[in-house]
Amino acid sequence: MEKNEAENMPCYFGYLKRKEAKRFLRLAGATDGLYLLRSSATQLGTYVISITHHRKIHNYEINYQKDQGYSINDYGSHMALNKLIEYHMLLADGLCCPLRQACPKPSGFYLPPAPLYEMYRRATLEHVHKKHKLRGKDLHQYVDEHYDELLPEVIPRLHEGMAWFHRRISREDAEHRLLNVKHTSGLFLVRERDFGLYAISLLHKHKVLHYALVNEGGKIFLSCNDRRSSRKFDSICQMVEFYSDNKEQLVTRLKVPCVAPELRRYSEEPNGVSSSSHTWPRLPFSLSTLRYRGKMVAESNPPQDIFPVLWDNLYMVNKDARPSETPVYNSIYADPEELRDRRLELDRNRLRLDQNGELGSGNFGSVLRGIYKFTKKDMAVAVKVLKAVEDPEARRAELLQEAEFMAQLDHPFIVRIVGICDAEALMLVMEVASLGPLHTYLREHKGTMSQNHLIELVHQVSDGMSYLEERRFVHRDLAARNVLLVSERYAKISDFGLSKVLMEDQTYLRDKTQQKLPLKWYALESVLQQKFSSKGDVWSFGITVWETLSYGDKPYKGMRAPEVVKFLQSGQRLEKPTGCPETIYQLMLRCWEIDMNKRPTFKEIERHLSHYLTMAMQT
Ligand code: ADP
Ligand code: MG
Repeated sequence: MEKNEAENMPCYFGYLKRKEAKRFLRLAGATDGLYLLRSSATQLGTYVISITHHRKIHNYEINYQKDQGYSINDYGSHMALNKLIEYHMLLADGLCCPLRQACPKPSGFYLPPAPLYEMYRRATLEHVHKKHKLRGKDLHQYVDEHYDELLPEVIPRLHEGMAWFHRRISREDAEHRLLNVKHTSGLFLVRERDFGLYAISLLHKHKVLHYALVNEGGKIFLSCNDRRSSRKFDSICQMVEFYSDNKEQLVTRLKVPCVAPELRRYSEEPNGVSSSSHTWPRLPFSLSTLRYRGKMVAESNPPQDIFPVLWDNLYMVNKDARPSETPVYNSIYADPEELRDRRLELDRNRLRLDQNGELGSGNFGSVLRGIYKFTKKDMAVAVKVLKAVEDPEARRAELLQEAEFMAQLDHPFIVRIVGICDAEALMLVMEVASLGPLHTYLREHKGTMSQNHLIELVHQVSDGMSYLEERRFVHRDLAARNVLLVSERYAKISDFGLSKVLMEDQTYLRDKTQQKLPLKWYALESVLQQKFSSKGDVWSFGITVWETLSYGDKPYKGMRAPEVVKFLQSGQRLEKPTGCPETIYQLMLRCWEIDMNKRPTFKEIERHLSHYLTMAMQT
């Protein structure tokens, strides 16, 4: 089998477990014929196609035989994988339906690393191929017969193929690469110091620490350790694997690999952080210029129309569109040509507003429809316009803070920021979700959306929240009014006006500013002690699920905030919405545990809902 044949194919997701494949397909909307190609994590060297049909996910192993090439269930035979894919786009032939659309990769996706045993095997095959010029079946046979003898030759160089291995870079370069990212402790890389000498560079609390590695007779260990008592490893890979689970002498575990620039295949990540969930925080914009800029630059004449627009055409949505069928699933930041020379500040001349098209409003001002002219395409946008108020500076600072927060996020179930435009007013430009807030939409479409359909939407919200949780971002205003619909099948989290980032050593933050807070959505520790954390967001998520499943009802109707506190303290909770499945209500109740440690994490909630939907679809 050709080694990297699949890796350049857009539909290839690497070593993905069946469950993960399901998750990606489901989140992308599970339309008929939506598919992905992956390597089986259990069957060495076997590719699998996962495809959706009638909302169910089917998996097909691809057989390979040296002389006959690739085939599925013995239908056809193709000498290359991409030929097999092309063939099955025309004909189902053994599949449940023809392949239609490759599953889009979430922004920042990188190929999950192969399991370690597979790395060994691959590296050994490559080694033997180079050394003995063997190929195909002979190569595999040789490796099988000499595996144990070969390992010592292969293992010491195994790290060379790892994403976290940055080859020969200076200490300063390593620091630069690690510090390019905000708020991540445990971000690490391995670099070569001098020929055959290595070091681990590790970020902790905004500082980079360097650990030199010693190699004594093939045994590798940390130089900070006492030689006799130190834990020794046969390879750098094994060492990294060990210290990703155990802190021992390190200041923190090796939690998140910083991907070497030459390996960032699927996105033009400026900083290349990756994590187990295939996404990573990004800072796509330069923010410093913005923050220190002085007063508002008043531009007396907003630019004239630059292109004719049929607003309603532009904003027309197919209400049944699944996430992957909309223009806002894939990241606007993903196109390297649009990204080049990109800053948070947008050019006013490229922005056009529809003064008559108000999408909504809040106490900051209004949200208007707009179009932003990128280099290659025009994009429908929503523009939050700051109204003139008594204390413009404070309001400006708040909106800039919101923009700065959003600029660090890039996820399909979160409204992405396009940029900030500082002209006749300060404007925050973002992706548009035309169907508007979830609660009002549900009130108006009560009869037409099933409970499972609603659970699909809250599942998307839990996936977006799990992304925030992983990054220690606290939303603080999660509610159905702040979940916007792109289509009936696609929800995005919005409104980051109250959001904050928890520092590494904080378990919660305190807010004493006493601004107007959405108390009915808050956990008791937030109402009574002004403590905020992701577990507080989990409580609000429970309320959001309740609102959704009761088709936009108001929680605790007729009660005032102090009464709600008493109500909760006496052990009472919101009632089960009509028609709501019992397990989903139980999940809400777990979100409303007084003891925040008893509440589930978003990661658990996401898994739970994913499982629920899988079961629901099978019946
Ligand atoms: P506030 O902080 O005042 O609650 P929001 O960010 O929630 O402000 O926006 C207010 C309203 O504007 C929303 O309820 C919604 O109707 C509309 N809106 C905001 N962002 C978008 C968007 N990206 N797409 C479509 N409508 C939006
Ligand atoms: Mg809002």
